[in-house]
Amino acid sequence: MTTLPELAPVPVSSLGPQPNEQGFHVGRVERNLFWVTDGTYQSAFLATEQGVVLFDAPPSIGGNLRRAVDEVTAAEGLTNHITHLVYSHHHADHAGAAGLFGPDVLKVGHVETARLLRRASDPKRPPPTVVFEDTYTLLVGGERIELTWHGPNHSPDNIFIRCPDHDALMVIDIVNAGWIPVYQLNLSEDVPGYFDAVARVGDLPWTHLIGGHLGRLATRDDIALHRRYLADVETACREALASVNPLPHFAHHGPNAWAAVRDWMDELVARVTAPIVAKYTGALAAADVEEMTASTAFTIIQSLRLDEGVGSRIRS
Ligand SMILES: [Zn+2]
Repeated sequence: MTTLPELAPVPVSSLGPQPNEQGFHVGRVERNLFWVTDGTYQSAFLATEQGVVLFDAPPSIGGNLRRAVDEVTAAEGLTNHITHLVYSHHHADHAGAAGLFGPDVLKVGHVETARLLRRASDPKRPPPTVVFEDTYTLLVGGERIELTWHGPNHSPDNIFIRCPDHDALMVIDIVNAGWIPVYQLNLSEDVPGYFDAVARVGDLPWTHLIGGHLGRLATRDDIALHRRYLADVETACREALASVNPLPHFAHHGPNAWAAVRDWMDELVARVTAPIVAKYTGALAAADVEEMTASTAFTIIQSLRLDEGVGSRIRS
């Protein structure tokens, strides 16, 4: 008889508020800035006297965005009219309910978001009509929202959304409060850009970080812990690349080059993963779902080889 290995319980500190019967929780970030979650995805909105600015429309929250806006604006005595929708990036899992908000709702996003959404040609994600390249300040009802693109990271078009008068920053798919990154360094397309984004998030002033995933907002402690995890994985990847000799794998597999590469990569990833899992289990949720750290280690190892040139030797 075999027993399945037990996974560590999710730390209570990694969990957020329980969604209501309709499947969402809406909470105040600060003043008239609110966030909405279904426990897995996060959205936010700013309720002003001239209308509501929505940030992202994850399809898993979907129609509950309208309910959350209606509930809050009724309680605050403000209009529930949604005037703007800001896209953090083009991905369907964060933008796929944008089509619920008709053409009268101004869609705002980066030029690359517009290009990628035109390419996707998805009626659920209409391309933004208000676009910017580097920075854009959106002023609605006397409130200030600063949008900035710092280059590709998780996706080519992922932007920083700052509400400086609410001490809040929204950057999606970079930091998951209380959790390790999901596969492939949070499915990042540009690994140096991802590390740069994490450093920027850490350097900017904010008290509340809306990260886009799971059940709660992030704190300064969360970004500090996330940076320690990343630094440990990166250091271990560099050490593994420096110390593991690929030649025996190539000698063993003869002409089958891909079999040799597989065994070399497996050895690198295994070296990185085991100590990270041991160190972070109990501190970060799902740290012992080791395939995810292994996948992130694989992604970072490829970036070190290909973006930085680590281990690249010119044949004499
Ligand atoms: Zn994404």
